[in-house]
Amino acid sequence: MQSFEPIAAISTPYGRGGIAVIRLSGEGSITLAEKIFVPKSKKHLSDVESGYAVYGDILRNGKRIDDGIATVFRAPRSFTGEDTVEISCHGGILLTENVLTSALESGFRLALGGEFSKRAFLNGKMSLTEAEAVIGLIDAESDEQLRLSASITNGVLKNGVNKLCDEITELLASVYAYIDYPDEDLTDVSIEELTLRAEKLLDETNKLVSSYRSGKAVNDGIKTAIVGKPNAGKSSVLNRLLGYDRAIVTSVAGTTRDTVEETAVIGRVTLRLCDTAGIRESSDEVERLGIERSIGKLNEAELILAVFDGSSPLDELDREVIERVMKSDAEVIAIVNKSDICSNIELNVPFRVVTVSALDGSGFDELKKMISDLYVDEKLNYDTTPVLTNARQFAAATEAKARLESALQALKSGFTQDIAGMDLELSLSALREIDGRNVSEEITDRIFSRFCVGK
Ligand code: GDP
Repeated sequence: MQSFEPIAAISTPYGRGGIAVIRLSGEGSITLAEKIFVPKSKKHLSDVESGYAVYGDILRNGKRIDDGIATVFRAPRSFTGEDTVEISCHGGILLTENVLTSALESGFRLALGGEFSKRAFLNGKMSLTEAEAVIGLIDAESDEQLRLSASITNGVLKNGVNKLCDEITELLASVYAYIDYPDEDLTDVSIEELTLRAEKLLDETNKLVSSYRSGKAVNDGIKTAIVGKPNAGKSSVLNRLLGYDRAIVTSVAGTTRDTVEETAVIGRVTLRLCDTAGIRESSDEVERLGIERSIGKLNEAELILAVFDGSSPLDELDREVIERVMKSDAEVIAIVNKSDICSNIELNVPFRVVTVSALDGSGFDELKKMISDLYVDEKLNYDTTPVLTNARQFAAATEAKARLESALQALKSGFTQDIAGMDLELSLSALREIDGRNVSEEITDRIFSRFCVGK
């Protein structure tokens, strides 16, 4: 365990509340905390057992400013792995700041965002995937994201990756034994068997890589564009989709004009609906302009919901929409709207098609299930299946997979096991990156900077 300089921060949200918690951690933090907290029993904090809480006075410059509870955690049995004291005081804004100031005046430095968690990672209390899942728990916008993040903080992804690493290590040992002593029957492992084992590993790595499709849909959300000619019902479809769950509206700055993004939780997945302001305005626009605007979003979208007015035959504008959508790499669902009037069109398109009425809501359960099933298998169980949740993990797993593929090729070619060994090592190293072993400080800094101060 490493112990770093003592740091302090308010760990509860800024504002008025029943209580607030000031967290103190680092070298000598229990002794330093004695300057700001005196138990009523007059016992010294240094004498309090690890994991125990004591009631007492909170001081600033030796004067009592509040009473509260101090919980003492001794290294390594604390969140950070260092000596830690957590002081709970009454939750007033000014009062809490005063307690923090008292800590800063007593020798603590103000903690940076995520610094407690970073120390937990550096002290081996938490892997990088677990740290990232903690951000997922804090930032969760859906119950599904909470469930997924909880399974990762429980070690499901870490254990899955460790298991793969162990298997590669074993395979490596066999490959090297074969290279070093090709004529001696040291390992009992034939090239055929090595190949079989590598194939099995590749299969498992593949599953891990593929899990990102679901993990991303749940964790980050799918960038979704709703397109279609004016009056097809885009805005009505959007409103119905948002009606499923509370909508979270955020402005995305930095584009030519601010665009509005709304979040809809559809079944197990989260949709990020891009430029919804544009959709809502578009029915007033000249037809051509409306189409251009709605189609401009296509390049960024990962899922396109193409809306057609089912009460009138397909026209030139619809065909233009289809043509443009076909050119995109995104997943596409064609929505034939206005089924309450009649269904007057034959859509001959290579996409999934669903018929709905944004007016009375019919067909929306089917649409919702279609979207959910597109990304997350109904049977996916987060408690047993490791799932990747961000681009960093995905890139590392993809690299591991590519290296395994080339190791397998080397094994199959029959005479270059040393190359296979090299590739297996690179694959192992890429897998280890998922959990933060061999990742650069720059990357860990970037990850922990996403945490709030006090976490
Ligand atoms: P947008 O221009 O594509 O966004 O289309 P809107 O959502 O603004 O809808 C255009 C018109 O069609 C409005 O008058 C809506 O009330 C109507 N509309 C939308 N969906 C339905 C539907 O499912 N059934 C019926 N009967 N009318 C609809």
